[in-house]
Amino acid sequence: MRSGAQGTIFTSVDRPNTFAMPELTGTAGTSVQTVHNGPGPRSALIIGHPGHELRVLGWLRAAKPLVAVLTDGSGADGAPRIEQTTQLLDGALAARSAIFGIATDRELYHAILEQDLDYFVALAGRLSDELCEHRIEYVAGDSIEGYNPTHDVCSLMIGRAVRLASIRMGVEIRHRAFPLVGAPRPPSDTAGAECVRLTPDELARKLADIRTYAGSAGGALVTEVDELLHRFGDEAFAEEVFERVELAGALAAFERDKPFYETHGERQVAAGKYRFVIRYREHVEPIARALAGECMT
Ligand SMILES: [Zn+2]
Repeated sequence: MRSGAQGTIFTSVDRPNTFAMPELTGTAGTSVQTVHNGPGPRSALIIGHPGHELRVLGWLRAAKPLVAVLTDGSGADGAPRIEQTTQLLDGALAARSAIFGIATDRELYHAILEQDLDYFVALAGRLSDELCEHRIEYVAGDSIEGYNPTHDVCSLMIGRAVRLASIRMGVEIRHRAFPLVGAPRPPSDTAGAECVRLTPDELARKLADIRTYAGSAGGALVTEVDELLHRFGDEAFAEEVFERVELAGALAAFERDKPFYETHGERQVAAGKYRFVIRYREHVEPIARALAGECMT
């Protein structure tokens, strides 16, 4: 039934590895803490799975965002890792949203397969309420990469929540996304992205946190982290890049080519490992349309 790959926080899929940037924040050697001193924007981090926060730990420690996590990270094997994220956030003094590991991965996949559009619209509404309650000005979260449907649906829900909350508060909340697949650096043609660059001390702390988290979660995560650090090098994780989000443009790619989760799901069904394939046109696109609809609530 699972459609995405197992338990992925980091995955070494090829992406362009050049670096364009940054519009703001850190320059080489500038401490994140320095960058964020003073009245930074009130921020939120909204992610599909626990562990995604490891990609942006430098920013997280500095910005201390309100953190929402959709699933408990239990994946297909039923071993949640939300507790590891709880400990990390407590150490970073970041606040937890009421939406924090509220579903298992199986439940979320079920809602996608069953086309429970109301579930996703309601969840986006709850996220919007929290953005208003905390007067959030900046939201970072999952990217639409076609890798895992939960990531893509998370990004779509953020889009709706940000749109709703911006209307209600009469401000324009910024919506940014960071890559979850492949290198921490985005493609070179990314316009208007923002970059936080960690100092050597901050990078060392981040790498230690990543290894501790992976060690605690165990299993495939340890291998994934080792492979990723080996492939891209420690230094690649000194840069945390937040790209502008353009949902329609990101989805348009799947009109031409099937997303990875779909071709992966087909292979898994053929191998008898999954019962169903989550498909873009059949399952994710209708959710995108529902979330893009009028929001008068
Ligand atoms: Zn994930």
